[in-house]
Amino acid sequence: RRRIAMMTSGGDSPGMNGATRAVIRTALERGCEAYCVYEGYEGLVQGGNFIRKMEWSDVRGWLSEGGTLIGTARCMAFYERPGRLKAARNMVLNGIDALVICGGDGSLTGADKFRSEWPSLLKELVETKQLTAEQVEPFKHLNIVGLVGSIDNDMSGTDATIGCFSALGRICEMVDYIEATASSHSRAFVIEVMGRHCGWLALMAGVATGADFIFIPEKPRADRWREEMCTIVARHRQLGKRKTIVIVAEGAHDQQGNKITPEQIKNLLADKQGLALDTRITTLGHVQRGGSACAYDRYLATLQGVEAVNAVLDATPTTPTPFIAINENKITRKPLVQAVEDTKEVAKAIEARDFDRAMGLRDTE
Ligand code: ADP
Repeated sequence: RRRIAMMTSGGDSPGMNGATRAVIRTALERGCEAYCVYEGYEGLVQGGNFIRKMEWSDVRGWLSEGGTLIGTARCMAFYERPGRLKAARNMVLNGIDALVICGGDGSLTGADKFRSEWPSLLKELVETKQLTAEQVEPFKHLNIVGLVGSIDNDMSGTDATIGCFSALGRICEMVDYIEATASSHSRAFVIEVMGRHCGWLALMAGVATGADFIFIPEKPRADRWREEMCTIVARHRQLGKRKTIVIVAEGAHDQQGNKITPEQIKNLLADKQGLALDTRITTLGHVQRGGSACAYDRYLATLQGVEAVNAVLDATPTTPTPFIAINENKITRKPLVQAVEDTKEVAKAIEARDFDRAMGLRDTE
C-alpha cells in the first residue's frame, strides 16, 4: 500500500486544514495509508512523533478551522543538505515515498530541491551505513506535489492561492467596521495590509471597499503621488463623502524605490495647511491570517487536495514535480519549478526597482 504524507509549511493560511482533510481522506479512499508530518520541515527533519498515521476521523471538523492544525514552522536545517539527509532517512524509515506540501514559494522551492537530490541522498544514507541498500530499494522515486497556501495570492501560474480570499474577506470586513466610525467623525483612515511583493490584497480590497486611494508594490506611484492623492481626496470630500480610506500594502514605495509609509500618508492628509483631516492609522496585521476559511477557500482546498492525491498516483519517475493550480475555474496541474521561478522573478524585479518588468510579469501570469 502506498504511503502518502501531508505537510503544511511556511506562513499559515486559512484553508490549509481543508487541504489536509482532503488529502488524508482521498488517500484513504484510494486505498493508500495516510500520514501527516507535523511542524513543517522541522517535523520531517526530527522524525519520531512528528510523523503520524492518520485515519478518516482524525480530520473530522477540520474544514472550517483557521490556521493549520498540523502546525507549521520555519526550518533552518532544511536549507542545508545534512538536514535534508535526515529528512530523507525519516521518510524511508516511515515507508513514505510521496509528500503533498501546502505552503508558499519558499516551501515549494525546498520541496523541489529535496526531490531533485533524492537519489543522491539515498546513496549517501547507504554509503554512511545509516540505512541498508535493501531498506532504500523500494524508495527509488520520491513523489512530491505542491499546493499553494498563501494569503497574498503571490504565486505565478495560478489565479488564486489557498487562503487569499479569506484574507481579502477579512480585510473588507475590517474596513467596513472602520468606515462606520470614519463616517460618523468625518475621519480619514490609512489602512496597512499585508503584501511585500504582491499588491493583490491591497488592490482587491481597494476595489471591494471603494477606497479613495491605494498603494501597491508592483505599480509605484509617480513622485507627484502627494498632490495626486490630495486632489482626489479633496474631490471626493467636495462630492459629499464623509470618510476617506487609503489602503497601503506593506511593500509600497515610490518610483525611486523609497518606502511609502502609513505615517507619511497620515501626515499629508492631516496637514493643517492642506486637507487638515482627522487621520488615523490602522495596521491590520495578523487578523488578516486569522479566523475560519471562507467558502471559496474551503472548496478550493478540497478540490485541490483531491487533485494532489490523483497527481501522486499518476506520477511516473519522469514526471516533473507538479503543483495544483486553478486557472479560469479549472483545477490544473502545472510544473512547479517554472511557477516558483516566475514568482521569484517578480520579487527580484520589484527589489531592483524594475517596475515595468514586474508589471509585465504580473500581466502575463
Ligand atoms: P513560504 O513557504 O511561506 O514562502 P519560507 O520561505 O519561510 O515560507 O519557507 C518555509 C520553509 O521552507 C523554510 O523555513 C525552509 O525550511 C524551507 N525552504 C524555503 N526555501 C528553501 C530552499 N531554497 N531550500 C531548502 N528549503 C527551503
